[in-house]
Amino acid sequence: MRVKVKIRCKQCGEKFVLRGKKERGRVETGFKQCLCNNTHEFEVEEDRY
Ligand SMILES: [Zn+2]
Repeated sequence: MRVKVKIRCKQCGEKFVLRGKKERGRVETGFKQCLCNNTHEFEVEEDRY
């Protein structure tokens, strides 16, 4: 299943919109880290499209 993922960094507020694949309940986007080097403090929202 293809999904659109909105990611917001909780440290600097930067927003990213990525396309990913959802497999076995896990979303794979390839997103690694924010520009501010934050790697895990994110709000993630999924949209099907
Ligand atoms: Zn950030």
